[in-house]
Amino acid sequence: MFEYAPAPESRDVVDIKPSYGLFVNGEFVDGSGSAFKTINPASEEKLAEIAAASAADVDLAVQAARKAFTTWSAMPGAERAKYLFRIARIIQERARELAVLESLDNGKPIRESRDVDLPLVAAHFFYYAGWADKLQYAGYGTRPLGVAGQVIPWNFPLLMLAWKIAPALACGNTVVLKPAETTPLTALLFAEICQQADLPPGVVNIVTGAGETGAAVVNHPDVDKVAFTGSTEVGRLIARSVAGTGKKVTLELGGKAANIVYEDAALDQAVEGIVNGIFFNQGHVCCAGSRLLVQESIAGELLASLKRRLGTLRMGDPLDKNTDIGAINSAAQLAKIRELSDAGEQEGAERWSPACAIPAQGFWFPPTIFTGVAQSHRIAREEIFGPVLSVLTFRTPAEAVEKANNTPFGLSAGVWTEKASLMLWTADRLRAGVIWSNTFNRFDPTSPFGGYKESGYGREGGRHGLEAYLDARDGSL
Ligand code: NAD
Repeated sequence: MFEYAPAPESRDVVDIKPSYGLFVNGEFVDGSGSAFKTINPASEEKLAEIAAASAADVDLAVQAARKAFTTWSAMPGAERAKYLFRIARIIQERARELAVLESLDNGKPIRESRDVDLPLVAAHFFYYAGWADKLQYAGYGTRPLGVAGQVIPWNFPLLMLAWKIAPALACGNTVVLKPAETTPLTALLFAEICQQADLPPGVVNIVTGAGETGAAVVNHPDVDKVAFTGSTEVGRLIARSVAGTGKKVTLELGGKAANIVYEDAALDQAVEGIVNGIFFNQGHVCCAGSRLLVQESIAGELLASLKRRLGTLRMGDPLDKNTDIGAINSAAQLAKIRELSDAGEQEGAERWSPACAIPAQGFWFPPTIFTGVAQSHRIAREEIFGPVLSVLTFRTPAEAVEKANNTPFGLSAGVWTEKASLMLWTADRLRAGVIWSNTFNRFDPTSPFGGYKESGYGREGGRHGLEAYLDARDGSL
């Protein structure tokens, strides 16, 4: 039998330097904190030494951003657009390099970084470049907020950077961005791209480091706007620390999304949607469909089909183009996934994974399904942020909605039915910022994204994403 096996992507397309500095005022500079290493989670091999920014380094970055703000904010929108279009084009030209680097540093399959992350990153820069010269005609006046302090997580390192930097710059703000400590490399390559695009110094500053560096960014008195994506726990700390400072804040936090499958759904499509919902990016997705709510009458058939499909997923080398499930991003995240999965078993749920070989090196967790899950179980309530699906059943649409909303989070949800009226009835009652109908995990720069309840506040993406970076003087878009 012929099996198509494309050659693995080559890591030689990226030139990883032994060590990296901070990107401040258009140049790479040393950090004064103690350097740390970033590793490849699929092999535990060290990739590079990364500078850690102290509060004093963050201060220099904020000063550079403040200085650059004067000219960047006064520049006609059409001029700012030229820079953003240039950045977008360079991202496309260097997409292969960026995708390989992302997979090496994060552990995600190259198929995903190449076909999902990178096209979306470029699309965000193109989309917001298109807004830069139109804002003044769209009822906003032209008043950006100033210096934006942006802190991002490790699950979509470059995409989260694009969500933050593209709208901020389009509106005339300057930024100091801190990438996650386990995935700094693509942000540093992005800094090189800013140089290549001749972006004026200080408009984008990248400060690497752990939580203390993030706190120094958020709490800097000359930062006007805080944009944070990460855990609800850290989001809460940030909300408290900026309270009363007058800073504008947007928080994109955790999730525990329900993926609701009604008995009339197209089951083959629903199975693909469930797999994509929870196993895409190893489940390291804030809006992952981590709770499957399936109508009791079809639960047996759907689960059998889902298990067959899971048996075909390939886990392994992220640079192998056949890989569906890559590595877990860090030892700490793996420990968290294991702890919650063990709790699932201890609380009485039934655990199932397909037979799959776990590589000897690196951080791995097989795709896992829990059945017999009760709403009170930790695996039904807490964000696992891994390839673990909790399955619950329901009898009526009202029960589906009740269970879907029975969570402190409210980021996203999916609904599978062929009946438009049932779809609309359900969507109307779900308390989630994003609701997908007969699909899951679809993203587009034109659509707003963000949560209710403990999933945070504010929206990124679309024209709503601009509102987070502008003072609406003359009304809103
Ligand atoms: P995390 O909260 O631990 O870290 C996120 C970032 O905050 C990192 O850069 C970290 O260094 C920094 N940080 C840590 N402590 C800080 C502090 N006290 N002050 C300022 N910054 C600090 O989250 P994580 O583990 O990197 O990411 C996973 C979480 O992110 C999940 O909960 C996930 O749901 C969430 N997430 C949400 C979205 C969304 O759009 N809603 C998108 C992606 C990820």
